[in-house]
Amino acid sequence: MAEQRVLERIETTSGVSIFRIPLEVFSGYIAYAHLVVHGEHFTLVDTGSGFANSPDDMRHAFEEIRRTHGLAATIEGLHRIIVTHGHIDHFGGVPHLQSEAPDALITCHPLARPVLINHDERVLYTKGAMQDFMLRAGVPAEKRDTLMQMFMMGKQTYPPMRVDEVVEDGDRIDDTLEVIHVPGHAPGLIMLLIDDVLLTSDHILPETSVALFPESIMPYTGVGHFIESLEKAQQVAGVRMALGGHEWPMIDYYDVVERTLSEAHRKVERVLAHCDEPRTIYEIAAQIYDHMDGYGELLRIEQTGARVEYLNQRGMLMIDNLEALEQEHSPALRYKRV
Ligand SMILES: [Zn+2]
Repeated sequence: MAEQRVLERIETTSGVSIFRIPLEVFSGYIAYAHLVVHGEHFTLVDTGSGFANSPDDMRHAFEEIRRTHGLAATIEGLHRIIVTHGHIDHFGGVPHLQSEAPDALITCHPLARPVLINHDERVLYTKGAMQDFMLRAGVPAEKRDTLMQMFMMGKQTYPPMRVDEVVEDGDRIDDTLEVIHVPGHAPGLIMLLIDDVLLTSDHILPETSVALFPESIMPYTGVGHFIESLEKAQQVAGVRMALGGHEWPMIDYYDVVERTLSEAHRKVERVLAHCDEPRTIYEIAAQIYDHMDGYGELLRIEQTGARVEYLNQRGMLMIDNLEALEQEHSPALRYKRV
């Protein structure tokens, strides 16, 4: 299905209006923010990246909502801005919006707060963890620098942002938006249920199974949390329409969750099938994927690492060269099926 880059209006059963706002967050890449209008309240869910066309797209969307739908929607008049998780295409617009809408409450899950209030600390901490991960994954020395540069590329610095309120699983924001915490793709990832419409952010997307990272790089991510959060997503009752942070609206939410879950298990099985012989994460990734270059290579190594970690946590893959671990700091580890 082709992506429609148009502003859409969706009504929930109790008459809450949700505007789906397309934003070009990187060149050629679209993410969606959502404006939720309930009574006198204007709540913005996610903020775009703050660069590329994202701020202009946001401004134009508000103009269109005023012009076409006759609502007094302004950025300055926002009551609340909810950040669904700490990835730049979702929170990067916060500094911008905070200066335009100083009275808006900035709201996120506690596990997303560190990214907002001290982004640079998170980036530098993660950089060290990533360097260790690449050593243990057995990434060839000549590739490591390039891959590290790619890893750091999208992680420009952001000023410290204010967080006014944190919300936990089960909370109801303004008696309208129910918070569902679904860690995996990101630690503080939340979905928001408004009557029969579910904002799934990056947890559930109609086509793409989202990127996963090992918990050794970022705690509270990883395949284990992702699978548990998919099972949790299955239990959310009464979803007529689901709106993700990318791609198109879903009217078949439960089928999409089911498919994503079986794909997650299938990909874990595929890693296991390549481990009859002891192999490093890098070698397993090279066996599974034909093309190992560019940004895709980095993602494939990380995803394979996340699956190996999941299997190792559950005693299905064990380290074959323990003696190296005894002698060196972060040696390349070889995993073998138990
Ligand atoms: Zn994300």
